[in-house]
Amino acid sequence: MTTLFISDLHLDASRPHITRLFLDFLETEAAHADALYILGDLFEAWIGDDALDEVGDLVADGLARLHERGVPCFFIHGNRDFLLGDAFARRARMTLLPDPSVVEIEGESVLLMHGDTLCTSDTVYQGFRLQARSPDWQRAFLKRSIEERRQFAAQARAESSRYTRSVEDSITDVSADSVSSAMKNHRIRHLIHGHTHRPAVHVFELDGQRAVRTVLGDWYEQGSLLSKDSSGANLRNLPA
Ligand code: MN
Repeated sequence: MTTLFISDLHLDASRPHITRLFLDFLETEAAHADALYILGDLFEAWIGDDALDEVGDLVADGLARLHERGVPCFFIHGNRDFLLGDAFARRARMTLLPDPSVVEIEGESVLLMHGDTLCTSDTVYQGFRLQARSPDWQRAFLKRSIEERRQFAAQARAESSRYTRSVEDSITDVSADSVSSAMKNHRIRHLIHGHTHRPAVHVFELDGQRAVRTVLGDWYEQGSLLSKDSSGANLRNLPA
C-alpha cells in the first residue's frame, strides 16, 4: 500500500515541461499507487470551471485515466485554485476534500491542509482569504466575464509576488502556534501540507510526544513527492 502526496504544481501554459512531468507521473508512479492526494495549488490560477484552458483539459484527462486505473485521487484547494469546482472535479474524477481533513493512512491518522491557514502572521493575506472564500464574493466573481476574471487573477498574482518580496520570510511561513494548535485540536501527530514551498520534514515535540510536520515542495523546477507506505514516509524530488 503506497499513498502519494503532492502540492504546489502551479501548472500553467508557460511551463509545458512541468505539465508533461505531471502527466508522466500520473502514467507511471501514480498509476501504481493506492491513492493520490493533491494538497492545493495544482494550477497557477483558476478563475472558474467554465474557463478551462488546454492545460486544464490535459490534466483532467490525465486524472480521469488515473481513476480508470483504479487509483482514487483527492484534492484540497490551494490559494490559487480555490475556485476549482464540482464540474472540474467530476470531469477529472477526483474527490474534493475540506481543508483541513483527517485521513487514515496505514493505520496512522494524518492531518492534511494546503497550509495557507497556518500562515497566521500574514494578516494581509488572511484578510484577502476571508473575503475570497465567502460564497457571496465567489458568486459575484464567477458572474464576471472570463476576460475580466483573467485580468483580476493576473493583477492579484502580480500584487502577491510584490507583497511576498516586500515582507520578511517569517511572515509568509507557518506560525508554530497555529501548527501546534491545529495538531492538538485534531489529536494528530503527523501533519502534511504545502503552500510555503519550503520542503522539509520537521520533527518536534508536542505535549511530550514526537510529532512530524511534512512540507511538500513546489514543482517550479522539478517535482516534489511524499510517498507513504508501511515502512514509513519518504519526501523526494522528481527530476524534470
Ligand atoms: Mn499556496
